[in-house]
Amino acid sequence: MPAVLRLKRRGDRARGHPWIFKGEVADVSDVEAGTAVTVVDSAGGFVGRGFYNPRPALCCRILTRRDEPLDDRFWRSRIDAALAYRRRVVGETTAVRLVWSEADGLPGLVVDRYADVLVVQCLTLGMDRARAEVVKVLRAVVGELPVFNADEAVPAGLEGFAARRGWLDAAGPSRVVIDEAGAAGVVHLGVTFGAGHKTGLYLDQRDNRRRVGTLAAGRDVLDAFGYTAGFTCHALVAGARRAVCIESSGEAASAALDNLALNGVAERAEVATANAFDELRRLERARQRFGLVVLDPPPFARGRSAVEAARRGYKEINLRSMRLLEPGGILATFSCSHHVSIQDFEDICRDAAADAGVSLRTLGTLTQSADHPVLLGVPETRYLKGLLLERTS
Ligand code: SAH
Repeated sequence: MPAVLRLKRRGDRARGHPWIFKGEVADVSDVEAGTAVTVVDSAGGFVGRGFYNPRPALCCRILTRRDEPLDDRFWRSRIDAALAYRRRVVGETTAVRLVWSEADGLPGLVVDRYADVLVVQCLTLGMDRARAEVVKVLRAVVGELPVFNADEAVPAGLEGFAARRGWLDAAGPSRVVIDEAGAAGVVHLGVTFGAGHKTGLYLDQRDNRRRVGTLAAGRDVLDAFGYTAGFTCHALVAGARRAVCIESSGEAASAALDNLALNGVAERAEVATANAFDELRRLERARQRFGLVVLDPPPFARGRSAVEAARRGYKEINLRSMRLLEPGGILATFSCSHHVSIQDFEDICRDAAADAGVSLRTLGTLTQSADHPVLLGVPETRYLKGLLLERTS
């Protein structure tokens, strides 16, 4: 008898969102945490199947809405579909997010490929338990590549499993250099496994790095919150005159210097290991001007309660950056906070522009790269928003 999770509600759940919270559950069989349950509605109608974990409030994420086992065949069909989609939408690059959790019908699993290394991140207990099986299927599709585990401590803690970081079995190279198509040539970026943020790079900004590159020729560029200088390298390779990259983490700033050298553009760049809030203020006082400013801060609002403080933070850095723009200068400004919508973000930028006393034209709105697909039915999959603003006066 397969384990069953019965919902309080009837009916339309089948078309909805994959997340099931404890409050929605009428009853559930006595199952081991992290194992599969069949989800049914209050009338016993089949809804789907997913891994159950009684520990977090979000106790089950539906993996399939078909009455099928969560076996090798299932993993294979999901992975094949995810890879086929990447082949259609991802341009020239050797760093790709192959699987992005809910957005690929595989909640709790992230898989990135950096050159010939796979990086796997499990976000749920169920996925952690399924890891070996999923990797076996992945390798059957992409080849016997080394796998680096890059679980994050917070989701692992919420779900109650030990975050795994390090090589899964056979060790791979400690560092690779990936190639990303830029506006005017290939950009090389180093990735050191187990170091830095995310799984190594901000793959979600790939399309925007290229877009910024198309605007960079002949301009003086400021890349605030630059991490390993991805935007800076793209801008300089595409012909920017000079660039300043501001990054507070010493480790990231040192990787930024490596990347600048790797692309042969170090003489035109400067990396300031500094707090961007202070540095923007200092540059303003020093009456510096830039033709292109990129603002890509970390999520200032990690929870709903932090939205007001985040607003102030976003407003301050945008206001200062707008003042640093020369006439005709362009600001590429981003927010990756889940709790700040594109409308909120536009409002914040409007306020900042009013206070800065500058007029801006919207050249475009920006979002995450196509290998981080947005599911219409799962609004949480849309999180990165950006505006491309040109100073008109
Ligand atoms: N644009 C980058 C990603 C930036 S992520 C890319 O495309 O690769 C945000 C970065 O801001 C992180 O590297 C983080 O270390 C840095 N950061 C966070 N707070 C900061 C601060 N107050 N001042 C400067 N950098 C900061």
